[in-house]
Amino acid sequence: MKNINVRKVLVILTVLVMTSTAAFAAPILNDTIQVNFQGKDVNFGPYKVYIDDGRTYVPYRQFFESIGYEVKWDQTTRTASAIDPLRISTSVDREQKVDAALWQLSAEARACFWQSFNLATLRFDQAVEEKKEGEKLAVIADIDDTLVDGVMYTADVLQDGEWTNTAFGASLASDACLPLPGAVEFMNYVVDKGGTVFYITNRDPSLREVTYSSMKKMGFPMIDENHIFIRETGMASSKESRRAIVEKDYKVVLVLGDNLEDFADLFPVKEGVDARRDAVDKVTDQWGDKFIVFPNAVYGDWEKAIYLYDKTKTPVQKIADKKAVFDEYKYIK
Ligand SMILES: [Mg+2]
Repeated sequence: MKNINVRKVLVILTVLVMTSTAAFAAPILNDTIQVNFQGKDVNFGPYKVYIDDGRTYVPYRQFFESIGYEVKWDQTTRTASAIDPLRISTSVDREQKVDAALWQLSAEARACFWQSFNLATLRFDQAVEEKKEGEKLAVIADIDDTLVDGVMYTADVLQDGEWTNTAFGASLASDACLPLPGAVEFMNYVVDKGGTVFYITNRDPSLREVTYSSMKKMGFPMIDENHIFIRETGMASSKESRRAIVEKDYKVVLVLGDNLEDFADLFPVKEGVDARRDAVDKVTDQWGDKFIVFPNAVYGDWEKAIYLYDKTKTPVQKIADKKAVFDEYKYIK
């Protein structure tokens, strides 16, 4: 094997261990080989090991197969790959989202969406009853993971798919793109009862056409430039200015979203987890009243808050930040 280009991050770490700090038993030809791998002794063999210039070489395929990895050899590119059966993604960040994405596919998640749209319907009915003469009622909704399920894209990305607007757009155009439970029904209910719906999304302008076509295909009402506010080039991620445009002419009775930024700029986005929790607790009467929040365990400001929005942090630093959150809340200090 001339070119060992390992595909899994974990495996890359392994190779470093093997070439620098691995603890070998006596390097005897044809002996059983012992390698300390991630803190555990792995015994395999007997196989030949070679010593050259003070460095010990062990057989790549036999080692990784002995710990359950699948090993592939591509003759064309002369590349060896060792694939960890316990991982779906090569990226640590993505791997950590696998269970969260699976939860979004669960029956419990569906029940949360039905429950939330049922509550939204009750609240909208209440607003219609209390409506004053001349008032125009509106509902503002985020799109992704509030009205439209993002899991068709997430499931691909988590298996090392592309994380680009082009790939996201392709997923939106596919038949796998589906509304979340109760979303189409609720948005049409609002319109049928005389209300107006607005969609405020941070999707990229390059996704404008596919947003219109896919939303129409799914059956959402009022899909046009007067009712969908995309995050235009140069616009802040905050949705406050776009909400203000609606509030000028309408009484906004409900805001729907999966991220606190969808509701108001009340929630400090760069002050960490505790500050956001406190901010939520300061407006307890809004939840389930004007604000209806939907579960999204895969991504959102909740995660960025763990890293204090520092995009320069390495995966190792992010793990340390996650551990610090746990340590703050665990009962053994
Ligand atoms: Mg969203």
